[in-house]
Amino acid sequence: MAAEASKRGPDGGANDLLNVSCVQHFSTGDGPGIRTTVFLKGCNLHCPWCHNPENISPLPQTLVYPQADKRVSYGRRRSVDDVAAEVLEDLEFYGLNDGTPAAQRGGLTLSGGEPLLQSAVAAVLVRTLEARGVPAVIDTAGCVRWQYFEPFLGHVQAFYFDYKTGDEQRCRELLGGDLSLIRDNLTRLLAAGEPVRVRIPLIPGVNTDIAAIEQICAQLTAAGAGSVDLLPFHRLGSGKYAALGIDYAYKNTPPPGADVIDAARKKYEQYFDCRVE
Ligand code: SF4
Repeated sequence: MAAEASKRGPDGGANDLLNVSCVQHFSTGDGPGIRTTVFLKGCNLHCPWCHNPENISPLPQTLVYPQADKRVSYGRRRSVDDVAAEVLEDLEFYGLNDGTPAAQRGGLTLSGGEPLLQSAVAAVLVRTLEARGVPAVIDTAGCVRWQYFEPFLGHVQAFYFDYKTGDEQRCRELLGGDLSLIRDNLTRLLAAGEPVRVRIPLIPGVNTDIAAIEQICAQLTAAGAGSVDLLPFHRLGSGKYAALGIDYAYKNTPPPGADVIDAARKKYEQYFDCRVE
């Protein structure tokens, strides 16, 4: 699946509409300041712990919550102008004209799914908002062809670049991803001087033991990374799996304990500026 997607062009099927899963206003965890997070639908990975399973398939889906007598639909084709207008509704909250330093201003975050699978149209959205002074963060797992990144170079506040494992086989078998492609993209972004925050989900049984952390540290050092954000696994997305009618492989996996998080932080701090979110 990942290999198929990475062979396609930057649109994944050119059209001038965005495949939007949902829009979240007043986000504070998806980048600096107050943000409007646009979740694009469709991902070429299938991380079994994913917190946003409704964004993996590119097809429209409805989550059903029978106990609350509630149904929520995700996935709608929307024009760039339509999405840009919704992002601009919150213009006054982004801190664009009140002396807030550029790196700390709010704005648009493009997340998913994998937003770069819709690279060409998403870049039009980013540049449309950039022309209004609204900066963009791109939240990516990085497993796409380099040409998917190119329209954004020099035009984003930051790439939030997930790095989930340093193990090629685990990346391929567990996530459906190509680690050498991910690593190459990260190296190229950093070499190009792009603003990158490397984000590492701390997943029990996958990347929390010291050997796995050392492996990731060696690869990130070689790529030229200077800082990492650690995101401890949580199960807040488990209700979505039930609402989608699919099994959640991590439903019985406890979040990492404080001792595990602390040990990981100490190890990463030997190499990088490290922040636990
Ligand atoms: S890359 Fe992100 S959105 Fe895609 S499956 Fe993994 S966690 Fe979910």
